[in-house]
Amino acid sequence: MLNIGAHLSSSKGFLAMGKTAKEIGANTFQFFTRNPRGSKAKEIDPQDAKALVEFMKEKGFARVLAHAPYTLNPCSAKEETREFAHLTMEDDLKRMEYVPGNMYNFHPGSHVGQGSEEGVRQITALLNEILKEEMTTTVLLETMSGKGTEVGRSFEELHAIIEGVELKEKMGVCLDTCHVYDAGYDIVNHLDEVLEEFDRIVGLDRLKAIHLNDSKNPFESHKDRHEKIGKGSIGLEAMVRIINHPKLKHLPFYLETPNEQPGYQEEITLLRGRYE
Ligand code: FE
Ligand code: FE
Ligand code: ZN
Repeated sequence: MLNIGAHLSSSKGFLAMGKTAKEIGANTFQFFTRNPRGSKAKEIDPQDAKALVEFMKEKGFARVLAHAPYTLNPCSAKEETREFAHLTMEDDLKRMEYVPGNMYNFHPGSHVGQGSEEGVRQITALLNEILKEEMTTTVLLETMSGKGTEVGRSFEELHAIIEGVELKEKMGVCLDTCHVYDAGYDIVNHLDEVLEEFDRIVGLDRLKAIHLNDSKNPFESHKDRHEKIGKGSIGLEAMVRIINHPKLKHLPFYLETPNEQPGYQEEITLLRGRYE
């Protein structure tokens, strides 16, 4: 079965997201842990969290993916900005234990001229402070498009971050199809080669999730603007090859396409229809 979901609003709580996912034909979902721009997180209702865990078990859901606010910068040149990322991610991971055994994705950040090596060092240092042996959450680095001074634009940078982490077994990667295509990995014409390269540098066993997005911009544009499935430069047939690739087809796929619920439902139906 294709494990697929979409990015959903968390404003009505955990169980509501599970039910919405089910309604649109999904068997997983992604959500922001808090307002993507702001800082303050809503109080967690342990009953609601437990209800989602039960619901997921009952309906056979794949692991859900929490997404950190995209405004955090774990490798800012400013100490207070790094500290804010630290406190937010630490709090998010504590909250994730209310829905144990799921995944938490974050953008490695922008080194803002400090150089990618220094960026990698700061991200690794932060991870070594917040990861704990008893945690049940898998923490994912998202592949980035390389706009500005983004860290995580290459498989080498992702590998370098993970290499420096002590609790490596807690770490994984979330591959965003729009981002890697914009970064210059040709998943349209050379999917096998890109996956071989990922395997050689990071290891395919670290690949835990896929963000399935088409791109509004051409190959290697370093832009990061998501498009609906089949409406962008990647195209439907490449998406179909991705969900069916023997090295990927077991993974959970999360849509972050510019859609409301009916649009997501259509894309999920379309992709389920093309899954072999
Ligand atoms: Fe993201
Ligand atoms: Fe993404
Ligand atoms: Zn993006």
